[in-house]
Amino acid sequence: MTLISQKEATDFVKSGAREFRYNADIRVTPGAKDIFNEANVKLVFDAAATVAAPAAPANPAPAALGSDYSAADIALWNSPEANKIKAEICDIGRRIWAREYCDGNGGNISARLGADRFICTPTGVSKGFMTPDMMCMVDGKGKQCGGTWKRSSEITTHMAIFHSTPEAVSVCHAHPVHAGAFAIKGMQPPPRLIPELEVFVGTVAYTPYKTPGSPEIAAEIFPLAPKHQSILMGNHGVICWGKSVEDAYFKMEITDAYCRTVILAQAIPGSASIPCDKLPELLTIKKSLGLPDDRYDLKPAGLCDVDPWVQMCGSHGCSSPVTPCNPMTNATTSDSEIEALVQKLTNEIMANLGKK
Ligand SMILES: [Zn+2]
Repeated sequence: MTLISQKEATDFVKSGAREFRYNADIRVTPGAKDIFNEANVKLVFDAAATVAAPAAPANPAPAALGSDYSAADIALWNSPEANKIKAEICDIGRRIWAREYCDGNGGNISARLGADRFICTPTGVSKGFMTPDMMCMVDGKGKQCGGTWKRSSEITTHMAIFHSTPEAVSVCHAHPVHAGAFAIKGMQPPPRLIPELEVFVGTVAYTPYKTPGSPEIAAEIFPLAPKHQSILMGNHGVICWGKSVEDAYFKMEITDAYCRTVILAQAIPGSASIPCDKLPELLTIKKSLGLPDDRYDLKPAGLCDVDPWVQMCGSHGCSSPVTPCNPMTNATTSDSEIEALVQKLTNEIMANLGKK
């Protein structure tokens, strides 16, 4: 019998394989199980398993990755600058997971490291439980040049932003549910409702659905990024960029909080919005912060051509009475019918009182 203790488990995790196969001849100690759990390595019972041959990894191909990295890349990969970014990405990964912005292995984060070098998250892992050694380094074409875990398949979408937008230092992609609700409706969140979004994010752009990680989605994102720090990818999720890893994440947080507030507000009567003549003040603040916006060149009239609540709910408004679903009560009740009903009830109550 072979006993797999913490040391063997740690070595196995380093191999990058995502499944550990065991059976009656291969016993895993509780401490080793903890290590596998933390690294998201699945324990799979396999009567034919042998210790020498772990299951083919679903994610990294560690033997292939790293074999052709240059000495300069290996030095850059181990530099203090790279290590700082790796730690920041792991921190933001925990935060997007804790806020339920990513599901399963969804989402990915990247940041510029140097000339034509970027650090990004690996594919196939929960963003809430990453460690710096799982990070990957890629060049501007997305080719991996550092790390033993396989890089995210969506890195080419990030590259569309890095290439079109030199001031983008970091890109964060996730699937937050409130912004995602707009994305699956094919609708941009209406503007002019909360200053936080106007100043720090601006108009949230929208691209129709394309296969995640495809050249088509990269082509959609490329022209939008210079003027939009937050972009809804139709029927998919949100991609944001910022001037640091945390800043890119903040754009995601502000976008989703805004969408959540708008969705909740639909149920409440009323239709207030930021007055048109106040919007230029917010845009002036934004410009002074050096943030991009697609509305700087618009005349005041062009800033307000759509009422946000009309955009959200149509001309009838968001809080109009809902037509009942029950066909028996489907007829709308007129004011005179309601008055007649109230009068009838009043008469019955008065008649009952008179009986006592
Ligand atoms: Zn995604």
